[in-house]
Amino acid sequence: MGDFDDLLAANKTFGETFSDGGFDGIAHAGVLVVTCMDSRIEPLGMLGLKLGDAKILRTPGGRVSEDTLVGCILGVHLLRVNRIMLVPHTRCAMASGDDASIAAAVLERNDTDIRGMRLGASPDQANALRYDVQLLRTHPLITGRAKVGGFMYDVDTGLLEQLS
Ligand SMILES: [Zn+2]
Repeated sequence: MGDFDDLLAANKTFGETFSDGGFDGIAHAGVLVVTCMDSRIEPLGMLGLKLGDAKILRTPGGRVSEDTLVGCILGVHLLRVNRIMLVPHTRCAMASGDDASIAAAVLERNDTDIRGMRLGASPDQANALRYDVQLLRTHPLITGRAKVGGFMYDVDTGLLEQLS
């Protein structure tokens, strides 16, 4: 008890002016964004979108994991998604090395051994992005139902560049 008091107090304040109750869960702009868990990224704001417009799936590095794929499939079939944006970003920790080197860093810093865990890290972000875009574009449950684009988000300028 107490570990989350500050957040729960902030939530009480949030609830006092909350006016979006009863809203549906459709992606009103037809957009699904897969991006990194990085705290420097505000997915709706950077695209000029608002609450209710888009589905947001966040993973370490913005990679397309198994669960991300599930989200994309459900998005296009049930939630009106017709455009999927994959958005990794500059200065991402998951691009600072491969799975082995990041696991080695965790071991070194915390004496916790996660070697062998599939992290999805890659120093070649552009290639990882191309792979993920291709994976979604050619997936039989997505192809023909949604356009898929790969973008790089610059955390220092706030700008996106389309790479694929
Ligand atoms: Zn990142």
